[in-house]
Amino acid sequence: NPVISTNFIQSIIDEDNKTGKYGGRVHTRFPPEPNGYLHIGHAKSICLNFGIAAANDGLCNLRFDDTNPSKEDIEYVESIMEDVRWLGFDWDERMFYAADYFEQLYQYAEQLIRSGKAFVCDLTAAQIRDHRGTLVEPGKESPYRNRSVEENLDLFRRMRAGEFPDGSRTLRAKIDMASPNFNMRDPVLYRILRASHHRTGDTWCIYPMYDYAHPISDSIEGITHSVCTLEFEDHRPLYDWVLDALAIYHPQQIEFARLNLTNTVMSKRKLRELVEQSYVSGWDDPRMPTISGLRRRGYTPTAIRDFCDRIGVAKSNSLVDVGLLEHCIREDLNTKASRVMAVLKPLKLVIENYPEDMVEELEAENNSENPEMGTRKIPFSKVIYIEQDDFMENPPKKFFRLTPGQEVRLKHAYIIKCEQVIKDDAGEITELRCTYDPTTKSGESGSARKVKGVLHWVSAAHAISAEVRLYDYLLMDDQTNDDEYNMNPNSLITLSESLVEPSLAQVKPGDKFQFLRQGYFCMDRDSIPGKPVFNRIVGLRDTWAK
Ligand code: ATP
Ligand code: MG
Ligand code: MG
Repeated sequence: NPVISTNFIQSIIDEDNKTGKYGGRVHTRFPPEPNGYLHIGHAKSICLNFGIAAANDGLCNLRFDDTNPSKEDIEYVESIMEDVRWLGFDWDERMFYAADYFEQLYQYAEQLIRSGKAFVCDLTAAQIRDHRGTLVEPGKESPYRNRSVEENLDLFRRMRAGEFPDGSRTLRAKIDMASPNFNMRDPVLYRILRASHHRTGDTWCIYPMYDYAHPISDSIEGITHSVCTLEFEDHRPLYDWVLDALAIYHPQQIEFARLNLTNTVMSKRKLRELVEQSYVSGWDDPRMPTISGLRRRGYTPTAIRDFCDRIGVAKSNSLVDVGLLEHCIREDLNTKASRVMAVLKPLKLVIENYPEDMVEELEAENNSENPEMGTRKIPFSKVIYIEQDDFMENPPKKFFRLTPGQEVRLKHAYIIKCEQVIKDDAGEITELRCTYDPTTKSGESGSARKVKGVLHWVSAAHAISAEVRLYDYLLMDDQTNDDEYNMNPNSLITLSESLVEPSLAQVKPGDKFQFLRQGYFCMDRDSIPGKPVFNRIVGLRDTWAK
């Protein structure tokens, strides 16, 4: 069971339990609109809603808030279910669609009309906007505001029957055009829209607005605490008005601060733009902050839930450092992922004094911080590859890797020394000639000899060719959702000539590793037999200040 740290929402629940407001019941819901894929911000809401329910022996519904057919699709419904389940939450039979309430929502609208609390308005959207007023000036009442109940009922029924063109009429609440809160200035409850709905097809040509459908959906489902993000604070009076006007069961809306992350696009609309403009390969591009992108990148549900716990729940907006999310996946994989050797940019190295046809099977621990993960064998031979960056012919001070004349240790193997640098006609280094000291094998007499550098390597005859994808942030700078995005042109670097140790021959997409000295990597589903593809989840260096 997820443990929810004490937060202001839990305090409200504790108080409600004390006063018996909802008879001790706690019932939350996660209400995504199926108009895109879920992102890490939604994960915060999922962990919060399902977490509150679990911590209070309550229930949490999954509800598709599907009242806006033009942008919604079954593809999104399916991805949302997959993502919530993957995060580790379960709704049992408690899955609902706001669209299934369309008839009931319609009947409630007639009830509002009959009690004189709603009217059919013939103003266009632009005219309604013109009538809205300003912060200092009240709005103007619609000339249709005082229609009789009979006329309103007749017009509303004909709206439903399809007698009027799209956008020609609306149903509006009759509240207060002078309210300082714009949401209370006779808000639109229904609009005419001929759009096929993913669930109800062409049954309806009028659709309810979010501010009308949401409180009623909460009420129908017996929700106790309707948790939403801060931008709905100004909508709460309308939420309450709708339920009071209908005199139906009244859940309470509670707002919390949405998650914003540095260097991260966090709005479905903008994420869709990135997909549609082919800036990324899809919603699950490993650079995307979507749940499916994070999953493909190699993030685990544990790391994401841990992150959501750590950021907590507050009442004021803030920007969380994406370094914290990275810290959480490092922490989860540190003692779980096998530590293997992969050379991302190979440089050939021949050990001149090593016997021509000899192959040694060296014993290597799978995780030096978790002995329970056991050991494996890695082949060593005369020709190996090391990382191009691990050799410099004319090194600066404090370069402790391989240089002419300077010894290094090959991880799990021997100490070597560079004797000769071989270049092509263009002056590029193509090969290193080295010697090894046979007494320095790990566990033997000379193995205690100290050298500063330890390099990873693969045996040329045994290595597997691989593609490695290195990711950087999609956005250049720290910026919030409202800024013009400053995209990072180098958010993907593909290395197609990498080599990995042969123990990786049997891995499957989704398997995760630490590549020694390089970071954490996850096998991608683009892999083909003989050519695995690895996503870099995150580098090793943790910049997160605890
Ligand atoms: P976006 O603004 O990215 O399009 P949304 O709020 O329109 O998101 P919904 O599908 O309506 O997307 O969101 C479902 C739930 O997730 C809502 O209760 C919403 O408040 C919550 N949510 C969305 N984004 C965040 C976020 N960044 N942090 C926390 N909760 C979020
Ligand atoms: Mg929304
Ligand atoms: Mg939205």
